Amino acid sequence: MPANKTALVISAHAADFVWRCGGAIALHAALGYDVTVLCLSFGERGESAKLWKQEGMTLDRVKDARRAEANRAAEKLGVHDLVCLDLGDYPLELTREDKNSVVEVIRKVQPRFMLSHSKYDPYNTDHMYATQVALECRTIAQAWGHNPGEKVLGAPQLYLFEPHQTEQMCWKPDTFLDITPVWDKKRAAIECMEGQEHLWEYYTRVAINRANHFKRIRWPVRWTGLQIRRRLRVDLPAYRR
Ligand SMILES: [Zn+2]
Repeated sequence: MPANKTALVISAHAADFVWRCGGAIALHAALGYDVTVLCLSFGERGESAKLWKQEGMTLDRVKDARRAEANRAAEKLGVHDLVCLDLGDYPLELTREDKNSVVEVIRKVQPRFMLSHSKYDPYNTDHMYATQVALECRTIAQAWGHNPGEKVLGAPQLYLFEPHQTEQMCWKPDTFLDITPVWDKKRAAIECMEGQEHLWEYYTRVAINRANHFKRIRWPVRWTGLQIRRRLRVDLPAYRR
């Protein structure tokens, strides 16, 4: 049983946790959480275009580069443990055995809450598949009949990252985290992703725009906890810090 409060991020590819929840990771790490990041793949085929343009590039070299970037970024964010399962991408596909590996990580971490991708993402099916995996493996981790004798999982809330093209993914924010105190850490982690330099400014702008949104609706945000509980009554148990 972990001594500290814990959280688990399930990231389809090695860089996703940085763009999509780097601030949440750094913020919770600063609050004393042990945040584990589970990367299902390195994004070696589908999210490493810059590396593939180099002469003589191979799949293994791309994976090594993406792993090194993810390690550096995780360090900047204060990640407690970075687990890379190397399950392949584009497409990401898990066997039953692979899912058992994910369940093993979930049970080991015993997260207070989890984070993964949006449920719908026709532009990046690996992302929505990762969320399906997160939901499925969370359920398996809660089953007393799965590897009897192990500590079963409680009921951690699953939060969904803001996707790349928000409106196209039918995604609306209902939980805001002010990451101002840790923005420098997120930006430093973003800059570790040398293979996707074209996204550095893009995700900086996303953060600025979302902060502007937050400022304009500050009062209702006081009721975020209430909204979460009401919305999820038919979905998942509420997460309370
Ligand atoms: Zn991705």
